[in-house]
Amino acid sequence: MSTFFWLPIDYNVKSFNKHAALDLIRFSGAGMSRTDIAEQMGLTRAAVSLIVKELLESHVVQETESRSAPSGRPPIVLEINPDRGLVGAIDMGATHMTIAVADFAARIHQEAEIQFDIKDGPGVCLEKADISLRKMLEGQGLSISDLSATGMGVPGPVITEAGTVVAPPIMPGWDGYPIRTSLEKMWGCPVTLNNDAELGALGEWAYGAGRGEKNIAYIKVGTGVGAGLILNQQIYGGTMGAAGEIGHLTIDENGPLCDCGNRGCLEAFAGGNAIARQGQLLAKSGKRTLLSNTPVNRITAVEVADAARRGDLRAQEILRRAGTYIGIAIAGLINLFNPSVVIIGGGVSQVGDILTVPIRQAVRERAMRASEQGVRITTGMLGRRSILIGAIVQAVNIAIHHAAENKASISKEAAIETMEIN
Ligand SMILES: [Zn+2]
Repeated sequence: MSTFFWLPIDYNVKSFNKHAALDLIRFSGAGMSRTDIAEQMGLTRAAVSLIVKELLESHVVQETESRSAPSGRPPIVLEINPDRGLVGAIDMGATHMTIAVADFAARIHQEAEIQFDIKDGPGVCLEKADISLRKMLEGQGLSISDLSATGMGVPGPVITEAGTVVAPPIMPGWDGYPIRTSLEKMWGCPVTLNNDAELGALGEWAYGAGRGEKNIAYIKVGTGVGAGLILNQQIYGGTMGAAGEIGHLTIDENGPLCDCGNRGCLEAFAGGNAIARQGQLLAKSGKRTLLSNTPVNRITAVEVADAARRGDLRAQEILRRAGTYIGIAIAGLINLFNPSVVIIGGGVSQVGDILTVPIRQAVRERAMRASEQGVRITTGMLGRRSILIGAIVQAVNIAIHHAAENKASISKEAAIETMEIN
Protein backbone atom coordinates (compact mmCIF):
# COMPACT_ATOMS: atom_id res chain seq x y z
CA MET A 1 0.00 0.00 0.00
CA SER A 2 1.67 3.19 -1.09
CA THR A 3 -0.92 5.78 -0.09
CA PHE A 4 1.60 6.85 2.47
CA PHE A 5 2.71 10.38 1.88
CA TRP A 6 5.69 11.97 3.59
CA LEU A 7 6.88 10.88 6.96
CA PRO A 8 8.48 13.86 8.65
CA ILE A 9 12.07 12.74 9.09
CA ASP A 10 12.21 12.99 12.88
CA TYR A 11 9.61 10.28 13.63
CA ASN A 12 10.60 6.85 14.83
CA VAL A 13 9.75 3.66 12.99
CA LYS A 14 7.34 2.51 15.70
CA SER A 15 4.80 5.16 14.81
CA PHE A 16 5.18 4.67 11.05
CA ASN A 17 1.81 2.89 10.74
CA LYS A 18 0.08 5.58 12.74
CA HIS A 19 1.28 8.30 10.38
CA ALA A 20 0.48 6.19 7.34
CA ALA A 21 -3.07 5.65 8.65
CA LEU A 22 -3.37 9.39 9.28
CA ASP A 23 -2.50 10.10 5.63
CA LEU A 24 -4.98 7.48 4.44
CA ILE A 25 -7.74 9.14 6.45
CA ARG A 26 -6.64 12.58 5.34
CA PHE A 27 -6.84 11.91 1.60
CA SER A 28 -9.81 9.54 1.67
CA GLY A 29 -12.37 12.21 0.82
CA ALA A 30 -15.39 10.88 2.70
CA GLY A 31 -13.67 9.45 5.76
CA MET A 32 -12.53 5.86 6.38
CA SER A 33 -13.80 3.09 8.61
CA ARG A 34 -11.47 1.02 10.78
CA THR A 35 -12.19 -1.97 8.52
CA ASP A 36 -11.14 0.00 5.40
CA ILE A 37 -7.91 1.06 7.08
CA ALA A 38 -7.14 -2.54 8.13
CA GLU A 39 -7.79 -3.77 4.58
CA GLN A 40 -5.81 -1.09 2.80
CA MET A 41 -2.82 -1.27 5.12
CA GLY A 42 -2.80 -5.05 5.55
CA LEU A 43 -3.04 -4.76 9.33
CA THR A 44 -5.15 -6.66 11.86
CA ARG A 45 -8.27 -5.04 13.34
CA ALA A 46 -6.54 -5.05 16.73
CA ALA A 47 -3.53 -3.15 15.40
CA VAL A 48 -5.79 -0.61 13.69
CA SER A 49 -7.86 -0.14 16.88
CA LEU A 50 -4.71 0.73 18.76
CA ILE A 51 -3.57 3.22 16.13
CA VAL A 52 -7.00 4.83 15.91
CA LYS A 53 -7.21 5.10 19.70
CA GLU A 54 -3.98 7.10 19.70
CA LEU A 55 -5.14 9.31 16.84
CA LEU A 56 -8.43 10.01 18.64
CA GLU A 57 -6.55 10.84 21.84
CA SER A 58 -4.43 13.36 19.98
CA HIS A 59 -7.65 14.99 18.68
CA VAL A 60 -6.22 15.01 15.16
CA VAL A 61 -8.87 12.57 14.02
CA GLN A 62 -12.55 12.37 14.94
CA GLU A 63 -15.36 9.87 14.49
CA THR A 64 -18.38 10.71 12.40
CA GLU A 65 -21.28 8.94 10.69
CA SER A 66 -20.54 8.09 7.08
CA ARG A 67 -22.41 10.34 4.69
CA SER A 68 -22.10 7.91 1.80
CA ALA A 69 -23.96 4.93 3.34
CA PRO A 70 -26.81 3.80 1.08
CA SER A 71 -29.35 2.90 3.81
CA GLY A 72 -29.74 1.73 7.39
CA ARG A 73 -27.57 2.88 10.25
CA PRO A 74 -24.58 4.70 8.77
CA PRO A 75 -21.21 3.20 9.70
CA ILE A 76 -18.75 5.19 11.80
CA VAL A 77 -15.84 6.58 9.82
CA LEU A 78 -12.75 8.54 10.80
CA GLU A 79 -11.96 11.96 9.43
CA ILE A 80 -9.52 14.76 10.20
CA ASN A 81 -10.73 16.99 13.02
CA PRO A 82 -10.81 20.39 11.29
CA ASP A 83 -10.97 22.28 14.60
CA ARG A 84 -7.70 20.81 15.86
CA GLY A 85 -5.73 23.76 14.52
CA LEU A 86 -5.01 26.31 11.82
CA VAL A 87 -2.38 26.79 9.16
CA GLY A 88 -1.34 29.69 6.96
CA ALA A 89 -0.68 29.58 3.22
CA ILE A 90 0.88 31.95 0.72
CA ASP A 91 0.85 31.66 -3.06
CA MET A 92 3.38 34.20 -4.27
CA GLY A 93 3.13 34.97 -7.96
CA ALA A 94 5.01 37.57 -9.97
CA THR A 95 2.56 40.45 -9.55
CA HIS A 96 0.12 39.32 -6.83
CA MET A 97 0.11 37.01 -3.85
CA THR A 98 -2.78 35.14 -2.27
CA ILE A 99 -2.77 34.64 1.48
CA ALA A 100 -5.07 32.27 3.35
CA VAL A 101 -5.81 30.77 6.73
CA ALA A 102 -7.15 27.20 6.67
CA ASP A 103 -8.06 24.48 9.15
CA PHE A 104 -6.56 20.99 9.50
CA ALA A 105 -9.09 19.61 7.00
CA ALA A 106 -7.56 22.03 4.43
CA ARG A 107 -10.69 24.15 4.32
CA ILE A 108 -10.01 27.82 3.63
CA HIS A 109 -11.44 30.12 6.33
CA GLN A 110 -10.12 33.38 4.96
CA GLU A 111 -8.38 34.44 1.80
CA ALA A 112 -7.04 37.71 0.38
CA GLU A 113 -5.26 38.71 -2.78
CA ILE A 114 -2.60 41.40 -2.58
CA GLN A 115 -0.96 43.29 -5.42
CA PHE A 116 2.82 43.46 -5.24
CA ASP A 117 5.88 43.10 -7.44
CA ILE A 118 8.20 40.17 -6.82
CA LYS A 119 11.01 42.22 -8.40
CA ASP A 120 11.06 44.39 -5.24
CA GLY A 121 13.07 41.57 -3.64
CA PRO A 122 12.66 39.42 -0.53
CA GLY A 123 12.87 42.21 2.09
CA VAL A 124 9.90 44.18 0.77
CA CYS A 125 7.84 41.19 -0.42
CA LEU A 126 8.15 39.04 2.71
CA GLU A 127 7.32 42.02 4.90
CA LYS A 128 4.20 42.58 2.83
CA ALA A 129 3.24 38.91 3.28
CA ASP A 130 3.88 39.17 7.02
CA ILE A 131 1.76 42.30 7.49
CA SER A 132 -1.12 40.88 5.44
CA LEU A 133 -1.16 37.54 7.22
CA ARG A 134 -1.10 39.17 10.65
CA LYS A 135 -3.89 41.56 9.65
CA MET A 136 -6.01 38.67 8.42
CA LEU A 137 -5.56 36.80 11.72
CA GLU A 138 -6.20 39.88 13.85
CA GLY A 139 -9.48 40.43 12.02
CA GLN A 140 -10.61 37.10 13.49
CA GLY A 141 -9.28 37.74 16.98
CA LEU A 142 -6.33 35.46 16.27
CA SER A 143 -2.59 35.97 16.13
CA ILE A 144 0.36 34.45 14.30
CA SER A 145 0.97 32.10 17.26
CA ASP A 146 -2.33 30.36 16.44
CA LEU A 147 -0.81 28.93 13.26
CA SER A 148 0.67 25.43 13.57
CA ALA A 149 2.56 25.77 10.28
CA THR A 150 2.61 27.84 7.10
CA GLY A 151 3.10 26.71 3.52
CA MET A 152 4.45 28.95 0.81
CA GLY A 153 4.90 28.72 -2.95
CA VAL A 154 7.18 30.87 -5.12
CA PRO A 155 7.62 31.11 -8.91
CA GLY A 156 11.22 29.87 -9.06
CA PRO A 157 13.35 26.74 -8.56
CA VAL A 158 13.41 25.89 -4.84
CA ILE A 159 16.11 24.00 -2.96
CA THR A 160 13.75 22.37 -0.49
CA GLU A 161 16.33 21.43 2.16
CA ALA A 162 17.83 24.92 2.26
CA GLY A 163 14.51 26.76 1.97
CA THR A 164 15.90 29.05 -0.73
CA VAL A 165 15.47 29.68 -4.44
CA VAL A 166 18.35 29.28 -6.85
CA ALA A 167 18.89 31.63 -9.82
CA PRO A 168 15.16 32.28 -10.33
CA PRO A 169 14.72 34.03 -13.74
CA ILE A 170 11.64 36.09 -12.73
CA MET A 171 12.70 36.73 -9.09
CA PRO A 172 15.71 39.08 -9.27
CA GLY A 173 17.34 39.65 -5.88
CA TRP A 174 15.99 36.41 -4.34
CA ASP A 175 18.86 34.08 -5.29
CA GLY A 176 20.03 32.24 -2.17
CA TYR A 177 17.99 34.39 0.24
CA PRO A 178 17.03 32.32 3.33
CA ILE A 179 13.27 32.55 2.73
CA ARG A 180 12.18 29.69 4.96
CA THR A 181 14.39 30.39 7.96
CA SER A 182 13.59 34.11 8.01
CA LEU A 183 9.85 33.37 7.93
CA GLU A 184 10.22 30.73 10.66
CA LYS A 185 12.03 33.26 12.80
CA MET A 186 9.37 35.89 12.10
CA TRP A 187 6.40 33.59 12.81
CA GLY A 188 7.73 31.01 15.26
CA CYS A 189 6.17 28.08 13.38
CA PRO A 190 7.45 25.60 10.79
CA VAL A 191 7.33 26.93 7.21
CA THR A 192 7.43 24.86 4.02
CA LEU A 193 8.77 26.33 0.79
CA ASN A 194 8.03 24.86 -2.62
CA ASN A 195 8.00 25.81 -6.24
CA ASP A 196 4.53 27.04 -7.22
CA ALA A 197 3.94 24.50 -10.00
CA GLU A 198 4.91 21.73 -7.59
CA LEU A 199 2.22 22.95 -5.19
CA GLY A 200 -0.29 23.22 -8.04
CA ALA A 201 0.34 19.54 -8.75
CA LEU A 202 -0.03 18.70 -5.08
CA GLY A 203 -3.25 20.69 -4.63
CA GLU A 204 -4.87 19.12 -7.70
CA TRP A 205 -3.64 15.66 -6.66
CA ALA A 206 -5.07 15.97 -3.14
CA TYR A 207 -8.38 17.72 -3.86
CA GLY A 208 -8.80 18.33 -7.59
CA ALA A 209 -8.38 16.90 -11.09
CA GLY A 210 -5.51 14.56 -10.12
CA ARG A 211 -7.25 12.85 -7.23
CA GLY A 212 -6.45 9.15 -6.83
CA GLU A 213 -3.85 9.25 -9.63
CA LYS A 214 -0.31 7.93 -9.25
CA ASN A 215 1.55 10.04 -11.79
CA ILE A 216 0.46 13.53 -12.75
CA ALA A 217 1.97 16.68 -14.23
CA TYR A 218 0.65 20.16 -13.51
CA ILE A 219 1.64 22.84 -16.01
CA LYS A 220 1.44 26.38 -14.70
CA VAL A 221 1.01 28.88 -17.50
CA GLY A 222 1.41 32.31 -15.96
CA THR A 223 4.11 34.95 -16.26
CA GLY A 224 6.46 31.96 -16.17
CA VAL A 225 5.76 28.46 -17.44
CA GLY A 226 6.63 25.62 -15.06
CA ALA A 227 5.71 22.00 -14.43
CA GLY A 228 5.04 20.25 -11.13
CA LEU A 229 5.42 16.50 -11.15
CA ILE A 230 3.93 13.92 -8.84
CA LEU A 231 5.44 10.50 -9.50
CA ASN A 232 4.31 7.49 -7.50
CA GLN A 233 2.24 9.82 -5.31
CA GLN A 234 5.28 11.84 -4.26
CA ILE A 235 6.38 15.30 -5.37
CA TYR A 236 9.29 14.80 -7.74
CA GLY A 237 11.68 17.70 -7.21
CA GLY A 238 14.84 16.19 -8.63
CA THR A 239 18.30 16.20 -7.08
CA MET A 240 18.36 19.92 -6.34
CA GLY A 241 14.62 20.51 -6.22
CA ALA A 242 14.82 22.14 -9.63
CA ALA A 243 12.92 19.57 -11.73
CA GLY A 244 10.00 20.61 -13.90
CA GLU A 245 11.47 23.71 -15.55
CA ILE A 246 9.52 22.99 -18.70
CA GLY A 247 9.40 26.73 -19.48
CA HIS A 248 13.08 26.63 -20.34
CA LEU A 249 12.97 23.75 -22.79
CA THR A 250 14.37 25.08 -26.04
CA ILE A 251 11.72 25.26 -28.74
CA ASP A 252 13.87 27.18 -31.26
CA GLU A 253 17.56 27.81 -30.66
CA ASN A 254 17.35 31.08 -32.64
CA GLY A 255 14.07 32.17 -31.07
CA PRO A 256 13.34 35.24 -28.91
CA LEU A 257 15.47 35.99 -25.83
CA CYS A 258 14.20 34.45 -22.58
CA ASP A 259 14.42 35.88 -19.03
CA CYS A 260 16.85 33.04 -18.22
CA GLY A 261 19.37 34.37 -20.74
CA ASN A 262 18.91 31.66 -23.37
CA ARG A 263 17.11 31.95 -26.67
CA GLY A 264 13.88 30.35 -27.81
CA CYS A 265 12.70 28.80 -24.53
CA LEU A 266 9.05 27.75 -24.30
CA GLU A 267 8.47 30.61 -21.86
CA ALA A 268 9.74 33.13 -24.42
CA PHE A 269 7.04 31.88 -26.82
CA ALA A 270 4.14 31.06 -24.53
CA GLY A 271 4.66 32.68 -21.11
CA GLY A 272 2.54 35.61 -19.91
CA ASN A 273 5.16 38.17 -20.94
CA ALA A 274 5.49 36.67 -24.41
CA ILE A 275 1.70 36.73 -24.85
CA ALA A 276 1.61 40.35 -23.67
CA ARG A 277 4.38 41.32 -26.12
CA GLN A 278 2.53 39.73 -29.02
CA GLY A 279 -0.65 41.52 -27.95
CA GLN A 280 1.22 44.85 -27.92
CA LEU A 281 2.65 44.18 -31.39
CA LEU A 282 -0.83 43.33 -32.63
CA ALA A 283 -2.28 46.56 -31.19
CA LYS A 284 0.48 48.60 -32.82
CA SER A 285 0.07 46.86 -36.18
CA GLY A 286 -3.12 48.74 -36.96
CA LYS A 287 -4.96 45.47 -37.68
CA ARG A 288 -8.54 45.12 -36.46
CA THR A 289 -8.45 44.00 -32.81
CA LEU A 290 -10.23 44.74 -29.54
CA LEU A 291 -6.77 45.37 -28.09
CA SER A 292 -6.54 48.73 -29.89
CA ASN A 293 -8.96 50.07 -27.24
CA THR A 294 -6.25 49.67 -24.56
CA PRO A 295 -3.09 51.82 -24.32
CA VAL A 296 -0.26 49.65 -25.67
CA ASN A 297 1.86 49.74 -22.49
CA ARG A 298 -1.11 48.49 -20.44
CA ILE A 299 -1.66 45.35 -22.53
CA THR A 300 -0.78 42.25 -20.52
CA ALA A 301 -1.65 38.57 -21.03
CA VAL A 302 -4.90 39.28 -19.13
CA GLU A 303 -6.01 41.79 -21.80
CA VAL A 304 -5.09 39.39 -24.61
CA ALA A 305 -7.04 36.57 -22.92
CA ASP A 306 -9.96 38.91 -22.35
CA ALA A 307 -10.05 39.98 -26.00
CA ALA A 308 -9.80 36.31 -27.06
CA ARG A 309 -12.77 35.38 -24.89
CA ARG A 310 -14.77 38.21 -26.43
CA GLY A 311 -14.24 36.74 -29.87
CA ASP A 312 -11.18 38.66 -31.11
CA LEU A 313 -9.80 36.25 -33.70
CA ARG A 314 -6.30 37.73 -33.72
CA ALA A 315 -6.02 37.57 -29.93
CA GLN A 316 -7.27 33.98 -30.13
CA GLU A 317 -4.55 33.24 -32.68
CA ILE A 318 -1.87 34.44 -30.22
CA LEU A 319 -3.18 32.07 -27.56
CA ARG A 320 -3.60 29.22 -30.03
CA ARG A 321 0.04 29.55 -31.04
CA ALA A 322 1.07 29.62 -27.37
CA GLY A 323 -1.05 26.48 -26.85
CA THR A 324 0.69 24.72 -29.72
CA TYR A 325 4.15 25.46 -28.27
CA ILE A 326 3.03 24.33 -24.81
CA GLY A 327 1.57 21.19 -26.39
CA ILE A 328 4.89 20.43 -28.10
CA ALA A 329 6.68 20.65 -24.74
CA ILE A 330 3.99 18.57 -23.02
CA ALA A 331 4.32 15.89 -25.71
CA GLY A 332 7.99 15.63 -24.71
CA LEU A 333 7.10 15.46 -21.05
CA ILE A 334 4.51 12.75 -21.74
CA ASN A 335 7.09 10.73 -23.68
CA LEU A 336 9.49 10.95 -20.75
CA PHE A 337 7.17 10.39 -17.77
CA ASN A 338 4.01 8.71 -19.12
CA PRO A 339 1.63 10.43 -16.64
CA SER A 340 -2.09 9.58 -16.49
CA VAL A 341 -3.20 13.22 -16.18
CA VAL A 342 -1.72 16.52 -17.34
CA ILE A 343 -3.42 19.46 -15.66
CA ILE A 344 -3.15 22.91 -17.22
CA GLY A 345 -3.28 25.66 -14.61
CA GLY A 346 -2.09 29.21 -13.98
CA GLY A 347 -3.61 32.55 -14.97
CA VAL A 348 -3.42 32.08 -18.74
CA SER A 349 -5.21 28.70 -18.52
CA GLN A 350 -8.39 30.45 -17.42
CA VAL A 351 -9.16 30.99 -21.15
CA GLY A 352 -9.96 27.26 -21.29
CA ASP A 353 -10.51 25.69 -24.73
CA ILE A 354 -8.71 28.45 -26.64
CA LEU A 355 -5.53 27.13 -25.01
CA THR A 356 -6.31 23.46 -24.30
CA VAL A 357 -7.58 22.52 -27.78
CA PRO A 358 -4.25 23.32 -29.53
CA ILE A 359 -2.38 21.70 -26.61
CA ARG A 360 -4.32 18.44 -27.06
CA GLN A 361 -3.81 18.57 -30.81
CA ALA A 362 -0.04 19.06 -30.52
CA VAL A 363 0.16 16.20 -28.02
CA ARG A 364 -1.87 13.92 -30.31
CA GLU A 365 0.45 14.72 -33.21
CA ARG A 366 3.74 14.41 -31.36
CA ALA A 367 3.59 12.14 -28.31
CA MET A 368 4.29 8.43 -28.73
CA ARG A 369 1.06 6.47 -29.06
CA ALA A 370 1.61 4.31 -25.95
CA SER A 371 1.83 7.33 -23.66
CA GLU A 372 -0.58 9.55 -25.56
CA GLN A 373 -3.48 7.08 -25.38
CA GLY A 374 -3.35 6.79 -21.61
CA VAL A 375 -3.22 10.49 -20.79
CA ARG A 376 -6.01 12.89 -19.93
CA ILE A 377 -5.30 16.58 -20.54
CA THR A 378 -7.52 18.88 -18.56
CA THR A 379 -7.66 22.25 -16.84
CA GLY A 380 -7.34 22.35 -13.05
CA MET A 381 -10.43 21.67 -10.97
CA LEU A 382 -9.37 24.11 -8.25
CA GLY A 383 -9.01 27.00 -10.71
CA ARG A 384 -6.78 29.78 -9.46
CA ARG A 385 -6.55 28.07 -6.03
CA SER A 386 -4.52 24.96 -7.03
CA ILE A 387 -1.23 26.40 -5.76
CA LEU A 388 -2.74 27.94 -2.62
CA ILE A 389 -4.36 24.62 -1.71
CA GLY A 390 -1.08 22.82 -2.39
CA ALA A 391 0.58 25.17 0.11
CA ILE A 392 -2.16 24.33 2.61
CA VAL A 393 -1.62 20.59 2.04
CA GLN A 394 2.10 21.06 2.81
CA ALA A 395 1.44 23.10 5.96
CA VAL A 396 -1.23 20.67 7.20
CA ASN A 397 1.17 17.82 6.52
CA ILE A 398 3.64 19.16 9.07
CA ALA A 399 0.93 20.32 11.47
CA ILE A 400 -1.11 17.11 11.76
CA HIS A 401 1.86 14.77 11.94
CA HIS A 402 3.31 16.89 14.72
CA ALA A 403 -0.06 17.02 16.47
CA ALA A 404 -0.43 13.23 16.21
CA GLU A 405 2.79 12.88 18.22
CA ASN A 406 1.78 15.43 20.78
CA LYS A 407 -1.32 14.27 22.67
CA ALA A 408 -1.06 16.77 25.49
CA SER A 409 -1.07 19.94 23.46
CA ILE A 410 -4.58 20.92 22.43
CA SER A 411 -4.05 24.60 23.07
CA LYS A 412 -5.25 25.48 19.57
CA GLU A 413 -8.82 24.64 20.55
CA ALA A 414 -9.07 27.78 22.63
CA ALA A 415 -8.20 29.81 19.57
CA ILE A 416 -10.83 28.08 17.48
CA GLU A 417 -13.51 28.84 20.04
CA THR A 418 -12.58 32.53 19.98
CA MET A 419 -12.89 32.46 16.22
CA GLU A 420 -16.34 30.89 16.26
CA ILE A 421 -17.65 33.48 18.69
CA ASN A 422 -16.55 36.17 16.30
ZN1 LIG B 1 14.55 30.33 -20.61
